[in-house]
Order: sequence, then structure tokens, then C-alpha cells
Amino acid sequence: MTDHKNSTVVRFAPSPTGNIHIGNARTALINWLYARKHGGSFILRFDDTDVARSKQEYADGIERDLQWLGINPDRIERQSARFDAYERATEQLKAEGLLYPCYETPEELERQRKQLAMRGLPPVYNRVALKYTPEDLAQFESEGRRAHWRFLLPKHDDDPFVTKRTEITWQDLVRGDQTVDLASMSDPILIREDGTWLYTLPSVVDDIDMGVTHVIRGDDHVTNTGTQIAIFRALGAEAPGFGHHNLLTTASGEGLSKRLGSLSIMALAEDHYEPMAVASLATLIGTSDAVEAVGTMHQLVDRFDISRITKSAAKFDVAELDQLNARLVHALDYASVKARLKRVGADGGEAFWEAVKGNLAKVEDASFWYAKIKDAAPVIEEEDREFIALAQELLPGEPWDETTWLQWTSALKKQSDRKGKGLFMPLRKALTGVDHGPELGPLLLLIGRENTLARLS
Ligand code: GLU
Repeated sequence: MTDHKNSTVVRFAPSPTGNIHIGNARTALINWLYARKHGGSFILRFDDTDVARSKQEYADGIERDLQWLGINPDRIERQSARFDAYERATEQLKAEGLLYPCYETPEELERQRKQLAMRGLPPVYNRVALKYTPEDLAQFESEGRRAHWRFLLPKHDDDPFVTKRTEITWQDLVRGDQTVDLASMSDPILIREDGTWLYTLPSVVDDIDMGVTHVIRGDDHVTNTGTQIAIFRALGAEAPGFGHHNLLTTASGEGLSKRLGSLSIMALAEDHYEPMAVASLATLIGTSDAVEAVGTMHQLVDRFDISRITKSAAKFDVAELDQLNARLVHALDYASVKARLKRVGADGGEAFWEAVKGNLAKVEDASFWYAKIKDAAPVIEEEDREFIALAQELLPGEPWDETTWLQWTSALKKQSDRKGKGLFMPLRKALTGVDHGPELGPLLLLIGRENTLARLS
């Protein structure tokens, strides 16, 4: 693996069992930005050893969502295509006596935990399975029990029943110096009764084979790291670097889950959010950096510093996303939105875009103003009738230009007793049918003289 030694390799490893949400996107983005910052590469690895729950449509969806965010993986891997490699690692560990069969049922394990708790001891697996005699094993087999397999953590010298404090340390890219004591941990189950692997071993095998230099993931995985470092070493490999970022919660503090459909990347895309608004928020939230709308992925690479991620959970608030989105939309030029406007039947040209963009939360909302310009039902209050009649009378003749609005309203101010809101609001409601919106001057030009006259009558 010497060819990997100097360049950064990271991976984003979702299980394709659902749509990814903004919290998963955060993990993907942090990996992506880290790779780009260090001139490294990014692997999208599908953790699909759970064949029953993994679905191709979810894998496709994850690829599509990453692309939408601006992440183009340098390499795509699937665990389901790598069972041979896991089998080899399994055989190696078994041959070295580092993977041992256990037959306890969940109920038996629960009873053991309770007994330990009663004696004030931590719930660490007691390794009794190492004491099984050939008769015990024959008995289990005859009862039709199947073994699950545990990894023998290196927390003892010669006698596995005499465990000792065994520190594993790593310098976490986010959390700094980390130390765990293997003696406080149970030997982890790597293979289930049905012969399938839990994620723990395949992940390590992949990280070794794919030359992953940095495992960057959510801090819900911190507790796996000590075990996984021990497995790297047992397989004769050097452990990679680790970074565990804080997790996002909903605004009310709940953890995000794949079931929270509204925060899925797919839903946000369908809801017409700008990818960079989502990427900016997902990246900068929960850091000591200001959360800002960053216009391009390049700029985000420059802004991003993994060590600025804070330790506590960060709240994801849709209101904040709306704000960032609006800010980005207000800065977009016509060329970059033309096709999108066309798709929603609202391509009113550059003048239209420039007139309305400052009032939009989403690009596609331009269709609202497009409709108002083309065909609004005027709203004229009883008390404004006379004033509107005067407005119709004083509407300047063509040709119109940028000064037309000022000419018109100056004349109205002079010949009516109105000014300010009392003057503008009736015009706004008559022209657009609503009491809020973009500046009326540019709108007037877009509506045109004929339509304006019609709306004032
Ligand atoms: N499939 C795991 C997850 O989605 C990957 C964890 C890791 O990055 O090691 O949580």
C-alpha cells in the first residue's frame, strides 16, 4: 500500500437502507472538503452487508444526492462485492485464536449483565465462551444453536481471564487526544449467529485494502474506534487517523433519523433549496466559524477547517437554511437561473429576474411574481377608488423607461393629497393584487402600459 502513504484517502460509508438526510450530508461534506483541502481522494463506500435491508434504489439515491451537493466520488465501492476479503480476514483472525465462538442467547447475556451490575461491576463480557469444552460445543450443536463470534481484545497477557488496563490512544482530528481502556470494553461480536458480519470488521478490512488514511465520521462511532484500532493491529495494519464530528439534531434537540423525511437531501432538493445553502449550513453549523452562505464548493474548501468543529451537538434549523438560501438567491445572476425559470414557466428575461430576485426565498418562487406580472387580479379598496382613477388618468404615455414610475408617482403626489404608504399601497394592490413585493418601478415596466391601464380601471 505504499502508493497510498502520502496522499489523503477518506471515505463516506452510508448503509443504503434509506435516503440520506442533512446529518449524513454533513459527514459526506466534511470528508469531501477534507479530501479536497489535502489534495486527496474520496471514496463512496456502500456499507451494504445487510443484504435484506440494503436497496439499489437507496444507493442510487445517495449517489444522486451527493452529486446534487457537489460531491463527485473518486471511487465507489460496495461491501456486498467484497465478502471474499472479509472471509479471508475472518479466517486469519480465527487461525490466530483472535475470533472465538460464543453461544449465549440474548437472555443469558442479559442475565450476566444483571449479575455484574448487582456486584457493582461494569457490563464487560466475561469470556466464558473461551472455556467451552468439546462436549459443550457438541451439546450446543445438537441443540441447533449457532455460534456468534467475538474478537478477543488484547487486554491481557497470557491468561485471557486476567485482564488489565490497556490504553488505546489516538489524536482525533476534531476531539484532540483520546484514550480508551480496552479493559472496560466487551470483546465485540464481529459475526452474528446467521453468519453475517456486523459493520465493524468489514469496515476495517476495507479501510486497510483501500488505503484509507483518515476515518472521518459522526461521534456516535467514537465507541467503536478503540476496538477497530485493535482490529487494524490484529490484521497487521497501522490504524489510520480518526476524526469524529458532532452530530446534528433537529431544532427541538431530537437526533436526526432516516425516517425524518423532511430533512432528507432529496426532499430539500425537491423543495428547491440551493445546494450551496444546504452545503454551507451542513458544514459550518456546529463549528466555531460563522455560518454563512458560501457561493461555491471551492470557497467552502477554503473556509473549512476540521479542527474548528465543536464537540457538542449542533441544532439544525430550517429557518437558518431559509436565510442562507435567500442570501444566495439574491446574488444569482440571470444566466445562472434562466433554465430553472424556464422549467417553472417563469422566464421573464433578465429585467424580470433583476426586478424580483431580491424578494425571493427560492429561485422557483419567481413564478409567483411572473404570474402577478402577466395576469393579476387587481385589488382596489373602496376608499382608494378615486385615487386609482386619478392614477389611471395620470399614467404617462409611451415610450416608457426607468423614469416612468417616478414621473407617474410625482404627478400623483402633486395632484392628490397622498404620499408614502397611502400613495404606494393602493398602486401596489391594484397592479399586483398583493400588498407586498418587489419595487414597483421595475414591475411597472414589466407589466406594461396596456395591462396597467386595465388593472386600474
Ligand atoms: N456505515 C457506517 C455508518 O453509516 C459507517 C461508519 C464509519 O464511517 O465507519 O454509520
